Amino acid sequence: MPRPVFRFAPSPNGPLHLGHAYSGLLNHDLAREVGGRFLLRIEDIDRDRCRPAFERAIRDDLAWLGLEWEEPVRRQSDHFADYRAALDRLIEEDLVYPAFLSRGDVRDYIADEEAQGTSWPRDPDCAPLYPVIERNLSRRERNARMDAGAPFAWRIDIDAALERLAGPLDWLEDGAGPQGETGMIAANPRAWGDFVIARRDIPTSYQLSVVIDDALQGITHVVRGSDLFHATAGQRLLQELLGLPVPVYFHHDLVLGEDGRKLSKSRGDSGLSDLRQAGMTPHDIRRMVHLI
Ligand code: GLU
Repeated sequence: MPRPVFRFAPSPNGPLHLGHAYSGLLNHDLAREVGGRFLLRIEDIDRDRCRPAFERAIRDDLAWLGLEWEEPVRRQSDHFADYRAALDRLIEEDLVYPAFLSRGDVRDYIADEEAQGTSWPRDPDCAPLYPVIERNLSRRERNARMDAGAPFAWRIDIDAALERLAGPLDWLEDGAGPQGETGMIAANPRAWGDFVIARRDIPTSYQLSVVIDDALQGITHVVRGSDLFHATAGQRLLQELLGLPVPVYFHHDLVLGEDGRKLSKSRGDSGLSDLRQAGMTPHDIRRMVHLI
């Protein structure tokens, strides 16, 4: 039997908080319980927001918590060629298209539609779906705009993509979604509309790189916060389109702040290093996140 493989995949765009501690410890404990491997992955494709100093702090915090991971750590920014190859395949298969509408264009388009009485659909994160009006631009028009340096993102043509599927799209959920969903879950990637696959300057997105890396690293169990439960639908679709294996998913409850809000890196909520400086021990942290 191959050994189960778990991963903790933080983004170095701020200090880790109690929610990350919970996710990292849970992955680590589950891997130890089943004699599996525990990997750390640095998800740093967002070159504007990610910083080497945050990556060093992540390693320090996790080591302080007592986590041990295999080296070398996979850092996404070292692997753009892997994502580019997958993107090229999706381009060749006409499953993605360059989308040129700016945020303002999208807002105006939707406002016009809604002024005529249509209520515009929203994705699971409550963002309005992208209007699909550029799917059928001619190749010549697309190339002319790209050559002229117009900003764009590669978006999936969700209808074309769903037509390629041979059977139903689902995943095994060993944890629970926001509404307690567990067991075999029917994936509904259409809920995300024509979601972004890559940017003009960065040949990937969270959705594309996460499925490539989970496959390349042989991840068998994806254990992460339930805020990513719905994103799994898009990931399952990309796995099918690219012929990648499917891990088991375990979405865990989020650690909430005292006011019941989701913890946030940008607000500096319950930063691990602050807790450490205030004299807390790794044992205290485990107790705070109910892991003992
Ligand atoms: N990098 C993501 C985050 O920090 C986690 C992605 C995942 O676990 O799939 O929220």
